[in-house]
Amino acid sequence: MKNLKRTLLASALALLSLPVMADPAHPKIGFSIDDLRLERWSRDRDYFVAAAEKMDAKVFVQSADANEQKQISQIENLISRGVDVIVIVPFNATVLTNAVAEAKKAGIKVVSYDRLILNADIDAYISFDNEKVGEMQAGGVLQAAPKGNYFLLGGAPTDNNAKVLREGQMKVLQPAIDKGDVKIVGQQWVKEWNPTEALSIVENALTRNDNKIDAIVASNDATAGGAIQALAAQQLAGKVPISGQDADLAAVKRVIAGTQTMTVYKPLKLIASEAAKLSVQLARNEKPAYSSQYDNGSKKVDTILLTPTALTKANVDLLEKDGFYTQAQMNGN
Ligand code: BGC
Repeated sequence: MKNLKRTLLASALALLSLPVMADPAHPKIGFSIDDLRLERWSRDRDYFVAAAEKMDAKVFVQSADANEQKQISQIENLISRGVDVIVIVPFNATVLTNAVAEAKKAGIKVVSYDRLILNADIDAYISFDNEKVGEMQAGGVLQAAPKGNYFLLGGAPTDNNAKVLREGQMKVLQPAIDKGDVKIVGQQWVKEWNPTEALSIVENALTRNDNKIDAIVASNDATAGGAIQALAAQQLAGKVPISGQDADLAAVKRVIAGTQTMTVYKPLKLIASEAAKLSVQLARNEKPAYSSQYDNGSKKVDTILLTPTALTKANVDLLEKDGFYTQAQMNGN
């Protein structure tokens, strides 16, 4: 009897320690997001979960609240829950090498979402063409201010997109710099893409340059918002062309009001649903349709790059046609 009990206990324990069997019909997906407190990422989450559930997948969402340690432990937690795929919007592109290696060891596929995870064995990357976004930002500002003193407001130094955006921006600006039309009077990265940080950077830049800044190439709407506050304090809002990206509601209102020159629309429903499809395909060992490859420092990563659209006052109605906002939202106070 005692022996039987012991055998039963041993087999129960053996069962418990077995990895959870994957069920391809009902994949389990972990979604680790840098920061859900931001408008953009909570929309990504909603679209992603809706699309994944339509394909019979279950999604476990976690927000790292812009904290790299928290993100690492959340990924570890998803690994121990036995998910099939982990989709990650990294806070810091360079610190996830070990966490990704652990996931891979457990047989979990890893997808880098919007931002590329560097130096890690990820399975796939999906994003918008960030170089193109950068070109659109600089192009929009250059059209409004073909000559003058330029300030470059970069994104978070921990985000690979910030670097790629800058490459795109410089591709457009360099010829104008070489001609002597454009002079870069300052450039700074904005920690965590934080609007308050952007505000104080631009305040200081204006002071240092006696307000003689003719244009600002800002890398997203949140930081453009901070910069425009600094411009407004000097009665310069609407006089200094400035870019953005994301089509955040506040930014769209600024574009309509004329205090922000342009933004870049990236249909979040598209990236989220494509990412959900990609994740389910990986869980089911199917081959997703990749459009390119991207070197992340450790391998050439299979990549899907989606197309962004530049938005100015002239074509902002596109957002209503696409169901991104209602006319009432865009014109409301
Ligand atoms: C994204 C932008 C976003 C920024 C801040 C970037 O990686 O591509 O859309 O505005 O992060 O969250």
